[in-house]
Amino acid sequence: MMIEKDHVVRIHYTLLDEAGETLESSLGHEPLALLWGHGDVVPGVEEALAGHATGDRFEVTVPPERGYGPRREDWRQRVSKKHFTNAKRLRPGMQVLLRTRDGARPVTVLKVGGSVVDVDLNHPMAGRTLRFAIEVVEVREAEPEEIAHGHVHAGAQHV
Ligand code: ZN
Repeated sequence: MMIEKDHVVRIHYTLLDEAGETLESSLGHEPLALLWGHGDVVPGVEEALAGHATGDRFEVTVPPERGYGPRREDWRQRVSKKHFTNAKRLRPGMQVLLRTRDGARPVTVLKVGGSVVDVDLNHPMAGRTLRFAIEVVEVREAEPEEIAHGHVHAGAQHV
């Protein structure tokens, strides 16, 4: 089955940096499930999946503007330690999840003070050209309920 809007797609992916080093991979874990056409993955990957079918393997190079966006040097913020679940263990350079009103977002710790933490709000992958090696594991039509909710349901795990 070919990938098109409102299809559920499960992929294995390996994310490589400019030098070909692996940054992240789903291999050895559950495949990533996404509802195609709903922005579950970065635009460059979503577009590249269109028209592919189960069993396809391909690579796609994604520039920042189709990936995690450009890096903004001034995008820093001082936040209270209470917004972190693991405040005691924070060290400069660490990537952590910051709880915000819009949900958890990955940030990089710049400096740790007594009660506040300076963080870089850029996504860790912002500003980078990324290469994804992708294997399409499964393509199926989404259930009406999945389309209505805008996300993939995995059996009894639905929340
Ligand atoms: Zn749902």
